[in-house]
Amino acid sequence: MIPISKPLIGEEEKRLVMQVLDSGMLVQGPRVAELEQQWAITCSSKHAIATSNGTTALHVALLAHHIGAGDEVITPSFTFVASVNSIIYTGARPVFADVCPDSFNVDPVHLEELITPKTKAILLVHLYGHPVDMDSIQSFAHKHNLIIIEDACQAIGATYDGKPIGSFGTGCFSLYATKNIMSGEGGMITTNDDEVARRCRLIRAHGMERRYYHDMLGFNFRMSDLHAAIGLAQIARLNEITDQRNKNAAFLTATINNPKVITPRIILVRTGKPIQHVWHQYTVRCINGLSREVALKHLTERGIGTGVFYPVPAHQQQHILDLGYGGVTLPVTEQLAREVFSLPVHPALSQEDLNQIVSAVNEL
Ligand SMILES: *Cc1c(COP(=O)(O)O)cnc(C)c1O
Repeated sequence: MIPISKPLIGEEEKRLVMQVLDSGMLVQGPRVAELEQQWAITCSSKHAIATSNGTTALHVALLAHHIGAGDEVITPSFTFVASVNSIIYTGARPVFADVCPDSFNVDPVHLEELITPKTKAILLVHLYGHPVDMDSIQSFAHKHNLIIIEDACQAIGATYDGKPIGSFGTGCFSLYATKNIMSGEGGMITTNDDEVARRCRLIRAHGMERRYYHDMLGFNFRMSDLHAAIGLAQIARLNEITDQRNKNAAFLTATINNPKVITPRIILVRTGKPIQHVWHQYTVRCINGLSREVALKHLTERGIGTGVFYPVPAHQQQHILDLGYGGVTLPVTEQLAREVFSLPVHPALSQEDLNQIVSAVNEL
């Protein structure tokens, strides 16, 4: 079976983890600080703050911007539920924006309709590693004085107009085992704002700057040095990993020629600004009567791992329906949730694997 994702674990990851074990400094030690430094450089950001996972990175980032009860945050529903849950944790209300069918990202055209006097922020998701149209978002955010939070959990290394994703607003990343670079579990926040960074550090560790003096209510959302050690070995290979994902995606797009399947495209945003997609997922759409269920069954039989990201949009998940979202309809989001599935694109694929994926998809 060709897996849908596979962590690349080499000798360097093992060596750095053993070093941490030998050092006895297991939590929030020198490796976490080094990983933060490397992440800040990668994202051209002044600060990077490590957390326990991507969900806590989002939660902390929202709290650091004082987002809470009485506030509204515009966000897509076509995302992993953590993007939306992080808003709910703070007491704020998510307001769902529909997405573009070709980029899978928030459609700037519909945003104006969602503004109310309570709108405080926009939480964007660079889904599958495809950067959001940041020019449109920035002018929208500027016009309405909104905070920009970027859910860049799938987009480390991506750029928009030459600028790293995660440097347009407050960036939130995940180092979960299946992400482009990983540490098993882990999260990271990037910001250029000194005060936001200070608050993130406080909220991450029980509001504590001086030991056992607590300036505010915080959490234990720290990263361990064991995780950071894995992340350090991975971030050193980021360019190599991204290049291989790009090559794999280009091969799939060039050779899949089934009219029942729409392959993903790198969408040159309306402004014509160049973007670097990092292909966290290679996501196709079933059209012309192809049933997704039938497609997935065939691919499984041919030994190809697939994933559906995501079969149920956030606004239709039970715990969100329970908050009173029953009347929300998002036509593009709902259509994509029925049509999409993802093929393996990770850097561990061999040319043989890629050929096998293409021939199985072309048989559908
Ligand atoms: C992975 C992911 C998260 C959450 O990250 P965890 O590290 O799993 O908590 C949030 N948003 C998106 C879009 C993700 O892909």
